[in-house]
Amino acid sequence: MKNKKKIVIANWKMNLSLKESLALTGQIKKKISRLNLVDKQAILCPDFLAITEISKILKKSKITLGAQDVFYEGKGAFTGQVSPKNLQTTGCQYVIVGHSEKRALGEDYQTINKKAKAVIAEKMIPIICVGETLAERKKGQSDKVVANQIKQATVSLGKKGKFLLAYEPIWSISTSGSGQVIDSQEAARMFAVIKKVLSSRFINYLLIYGGSVSPKTIADFSKIEDVSGVLVGGASLKADSFIQLLKNA
Ligand code: PEP
Repeated sequence: MKNKKKIVIANWKMNLSLKESLALTGQIKKKISRLNLVDKQAILCPDFLAITEISKILKKSKITLGAQDVFYEGKGAFTGQVSPKNLQTTGCQYVIVGHSEKRALGEDYQTINKKAKAVIAEKMIPIICVGETLAERKKGQSDKVVANQIKQATVSLGKKGKFLLAYEPIWSISTSGSGQVIDSQEAARMFAVIKKVLSSRFINYLLIYGGSVSPKTIADFSKIEDVSGVLVGGASLKADSFIQLLKNA
């Protein structure tokens, strides 16, 4: 499946104070309202604390609200967790699940699968993250690792359940410390592997690339065949840079 609009997802991670998150949202909203970006879709994923206030700022704008994580249970004694229902009632439409920074803290693909299903059950769209480590790549295991991650993350999602599949080679993420970024040809080859795994089982998914995307490099990745957009960390933290990403996507 291909999206008509190029999607640019901002993952602000834990980088901003509440005040900074609200200010950045206001700046992005103002700048976008002056532009005619009909073929682009902006999704902002602030931290949980900022979501309710940002939802109010984004009302009547064309910017979509997303979250960085969620829990898979609906209600109960789960200290520190946030339910899919509570996210959905804030106006949140997308949820990142299984980001490599969560996987580094111990989240496995069984949990990621539960989260993806819980998000879909609340009529939101999960952004499921996959990607190999540098050690796995060096051993020539990238294709196998990513294929396995996808299979585990999508168990019983249902043929029609909509999701975004974000391929993020962990070693290409700007804060990974590797100093390396996948080139767009190799990314295209990985997406061909990913499509092979997905297309026999699902019809309603979109492909997203993530890892050190900047206004200069975004076109290289967003133009890969069947790739519908990008997930961006560092370059989404300033309004001008985020707008430039949208323009160049
Ligand atoms: C990420 O962590 O998902 C990411 C893509 O970060 P960056 O754009 O900073 O590499």
